[in-house]
Amino acid sequence: MTFFEEQLRQGVFQICYCGKCNNVIWPPKEICHICHSRTDWKKSRNFGKILEFSKKESTYFGLIEIDEGIRVLGDISSISIPEIGQSVRMSVSFNSKPHYSFIVENN
Ligand SMILES: [Zn+2]
Repeated sequence: MTFFEEQLRQGVFQICYCGKCNNVIWPPKEICHICHSRTDWKKSRNFGKILEFSKKESTYFGLIEIDEGIRVLGDISSISIPEIGQSVRMSVSFNSKPHYSFIVENN
């Protein structure tokens, strides 16, 4: 298991970034593909906004872009009337073990 997955299991979304050129590296890599320095980690603040969403059966799914510029697909069913551009907060869920999912709520 990678550090990233291990942290997700604890509910922490870690952002891989390069401290030298200051770019977020996604997907996470040990070496920055831009300046070839060793990358580092920081915890995401878990805030973002909805880019788009759709409904499947009774569940709303949304494509979210978190503040660090990474896009994830999450369950946004707890938001009664989702809107494009809406500010949200993301959390990591293991309700459907062994796979994780992202739960998105009103910010
Ligand atoms: Zn770099």
